[in-house]
Amino acid sequence: MVAVPTTEAERAAARRLIEYIDASPSPYHAVAGASARLTGAGFVPVDLADAFPTGSSGPGRHLVVAEGSLVAWSVPEGAAPHAPIRLVVAHTDSPNLRVKPHPDKGTAGWRQLGVEVYGAALLSTWLDRDLGLSGRVAVACDGRAEVRLVRVDRPLLRVPQLAIHLDRDVNERGLVLNRAQHLAPVWGVGLVEPEDFRRFLAGELELAPGAVRGWDVMAHDLAGGTLLGADESMVSSPRIDNLLSCHAAVDALVDAEPDGTVAAICLFDHEEVGSTSSTGALAALLPSVLERLVLARGGDREALHRALAGGVCVSADGAHATHPNYADRHDPEHQVAVNAGPVLKYNANQRYATHAPSAAVFEAACERVGVPLQRFVVRSDLPCGSTVGPLTAAGLGIATVDVGVAQLAMHSARELCGATDPGLLTRALRSFLTG
Ligand code: ZN
Repeated sequence: MVAVPTTEAERAAARRLIEYIDASPSPYHAVAGASARLTGAGFVPVDLADAFPTGSSGPGRHLVVAEGSLVAWSVPEGAAPHAPIRLVVAHTDSPNLRVKPHPDKGTAGWRQLGVEVYGAALLSTWLDRDLGLSGRVAVACDGRAEVRLVRVDRPLLRVPQLAIHLDRDVNERGLVLNRAQHLAPVWGVGLVEPEDFRRFLAGELELAPGAVRGWDVMAHDLAGGTLLGADESMVSSPRIDNLLSCHAAVDALVDAEPDGTVAAICLFDHEEVGSTSSTGALAALLPSVLERLVLARGGDREALHRALAGGVCVSADGAHATHPNYADRHDPEHQVAVNAGPVLKYNANQRYATHAPSAAVFEAACERVGVPLQRFVVRSDLPCGSTVGPLTAAGLGIATVDVGVAQLAMHSARELCGATDPGLLTRALRSFLTG
């Protein structure tokens, strides 16, 4: 593990990543940004509710947006319906605080919002930050039902920590937070009015309060991402897990030149909560899109099964860099550094889907473009995390390799990774998707 120096080109690539993450405070915004980048590069949107016309799913570049998830693919001229599929999967969601359906509450003269914790958030990292809100709102407008994106970047919310004078041994005992009692942000002072939050959303969307029918709205840190360090060799940002991989997958697909294979990416919502939803990795979304793009090109189910059997999937998600202050939490023979290349993630108990042949495919893709690789195994007496890799492998029966960029502070409201690694992952994925 030898760190690759961060060049100006890599800093520029890291700044583009930061721009994408800053523009994506919710999965819906992450998909909108990815979709804009893809359509700008000639990918044509296909509506899931429409027939996949032969013309739209033959040679060419297409994408499907499904709420907080996105599938996009590039089929080269002359590719047979059973052409092997090269697939990259990642996820658009990150742990955070989400506004409840009846959020208006308050105590002792404070107006507060009721929130649920989404995913395995490091709760303490949401304290004492100025927070905005973003997500989507279902509205009834002129008799029509619509869904609108909403984003408020003004400082609206704060979850204040208890003063040390009232919690004297917090530094020795550790901070204990009860999700129901200690995480409701303050967002005003005075009497709590019924439907406060609905009226607020309506005002942001310039609608009457009655037009707001429901919301999927979440908090985000208003401090954007930045390069960090005396040599600007790191990226400090919210949602590195896993918008870094989404950004790399989109860039890689735009530039990939598949020849005889189909290049595809799928960015899933709901990974952080187990992937069971209409658009998560356990949904019918990806299998049905892959089937339809084979059928629309004149193939049959046999051709689909051949395409999957000959295909390979790269599941790209955050990896744990060895923490300098907790190096003993890592396997001594599998130390992982930042700016030393993508990480192959292994787990004998199949929390990661990597196996020797799939790892060899990714290693060859990295070698072709001079990208170094590292290997991670969790310390044997610690439980191992997981991701969409094993779910995709099981659902599609496709050989899968779990990879990711090394980072610290995973699931913090603000995470940390190297500034060279995002560009290295993009290069590796582009090489893989080119086949
Ligand atoms: Zn992740």
